[in-house]
Amino acid sequence: MIANDIATLIRAFVKTRWGLNFKSRAHLEAYQERQLKVFLAKKLPLFPFYNKIKADNLQQLPIMTKELVLKNFSELNSKNISLESATRFGLDIESNREFQLLLNGITIGLSSGTQGPRGVFLISKKERLVWSGVMLAKALPPTLLERMILKAKPIKIAFFLRTNSRLYSTLTATKRIEFEFYDLLDQWEELLWKLEVQNPDVIVAPAKVLSLLASKVEQGSLSIKPNRLISVAEVLEPDDQALIEKVFQQKVHQIYQATEGFLGITCEHNIVHLNEEFIHVEPKWIDNDKTRFLPIVTDFTRTTQAVVRYQLTDILKIRSEPCPCGSHCMAIEEISGRNDDILWMQKPSGDWKPIFPDIIRQGFYASSVPFAFYKVRQKKHIWEIVAGQNSEHQQVEAVRICQSIANKQDCILPAINFIPPEDDPIFQKSRRIQCIERPEKQ
Ligand SMILES: [Zn+2]
Repeated sequence: MIANDIATLIRAFVKTRWGLNFKSRAHLEAYQERQLKVFLAKKLPLFPFYNKIKADNLQQLPIMTKELVLKNFSELNSKNISLESATRFGLDIESNREFQLLLNGITIGLSSGTQGPRGVFLISKKERLVWSGVMLAKALPPTLLERMILKAKPIKIAFFLRTNSRLYSTLTATKRIEFEFYDLLDQWEELLWKLEVQNPDVIVAPAKVLSLLASKVEQGSLSIKPNRLISVAEVLEPDDQALIEKVFQQKVHQIYQATEGFLGITCEHNIVHLNEEFIHVEPKWIDNDKTRFLPIVTDFTRTTQAVVRYQLTDILKIRSEPCPCGSHCMAIEEISGRNDDILWMQKPSGDWKPIFPDIIRQGFYASSVPFAFYKVRQKKHIWEIVAGQNSEHQQVEAVRICQSIANKQDCILPAINFIPPEDDPIFQKSRRIQCIERPEKQ
């Protein structure tokens, strides 16, 4: 990495760590307001899509969905890259595992989405360097940073991902960071061996992988001692979290990252805060008491690909009390799944009521019966359930949990079918609660 690049990364690091601390929520909002104003005036015109739209403020711009973004892909980036060429390029580098390749100097990444067409992201070298600086500033604990700066001892990071991209390998480019990428399509046994040799300070991995590593350590077949664990890419289930924290004797941190960017991360008090120093978030409330919302995100730092009023399908549950860390960025109680993880129960009147995934998750987690594993998915009127090994005891308890949810929600217990447990391959996104097919007329 050349001197200029290092300077860009360090600038972003220093600014994030020490330059963007706001005295109050009002100060943060005023800062966002100024950033948005500059963004609308100077950066938005870089994207042809917005040249046709007259808007003085953000609210006058259309809300974008994944479908709209894919449909208008070439007009929503400033490099005139078409969806076809980006997707072809992305699939090529993925199948050849050649993640260092760039298209016209731009990193292309494909989301690992389980449903519908895959999202495509474009990011320039400068954006990549800034991203790395911000990520390091937010993700590394003060003790490791101190060690790196004062004792010049490199930090070893293990990154488990389903797909690699140039985005992540930028982090390797500094001498003080040793970065190892673990491709989940490789043999699991080989990955474990490599991990044992690396003995990383930090592990970044999907929650399910962290939980598997914890069970290996518990069994004595792996002897790593990381200082920080960061869960990415899927919902961190309470039982996985409990196992990981028990075995490694520390809290699990979370990075909330999507195709649309680096959206949030846990603070030292282990609460997820949205990265509002870099993104503007409008909540679209989905419940009456305004506790859960779908975020509508505008990233006012990106100039290669527009992320402007992009509505995500993740359900975020807002935290009611302020976080003791003092950050004024919005605190999130739980990233509780996606919009299509909402299940439905019927009221006696015949109306359908949404049952949010965190309610179901909490029901199973709070149960005194051990499940080890469970799955709940809706197919029209029926809830299909995997209740651990489906023993009679577990099935009775699963019905009791659903009945108790139904009672609290003033709904009728849905028809329940128990289905046999199936193995989820490690490289697939883990989703325990899912609506496969909505009931009719809801
Ligand atoms: Zn906090």
